[in-house]
Amino acid sequence: MNIIFSVILLIGALYFVWWGYKNLLKREHDPDGDSGEGVACHLCGLGFPREQVVVVEKKAGFENYFCGNCIAKLAADYNDLVREGSAPAIFTEHVLNGDDGVVARYN
Ligand SMILES: [Zn+2]
Repeated sequence: MNIIFSVILLIGALYFVWWGYKNLLKREHDPDGDSGEGVACHLCGLGFPREQVVVVEKKAGFENYFCGNCIAKLAADYNDLVREGSAPAIFTEHVLNGDDGVVARYN
């Protein structure tokens, strides 16, 4: 009687391990599935993987996401303001590739 009980327990344990393993495999198979970390850009509303957007924390727990396209567009728009002379230049090194080279940089 004791042996039968042990065998049932063992089978149950094996089933539990197999079930967990199966779930693990399933999760590895589709890393960006429905439960993935997709977020929407705050400006254009398009969806992106979380690793591809800039996260700006507004308040604790509230985050805004900005995609590269929108950031580049904002940078270009700001560049225009600087060129018009209505906005001060940003004196730090420009890290965005593809700017038109007129970002003022003073020392
Ligand atoms: Zn965007």
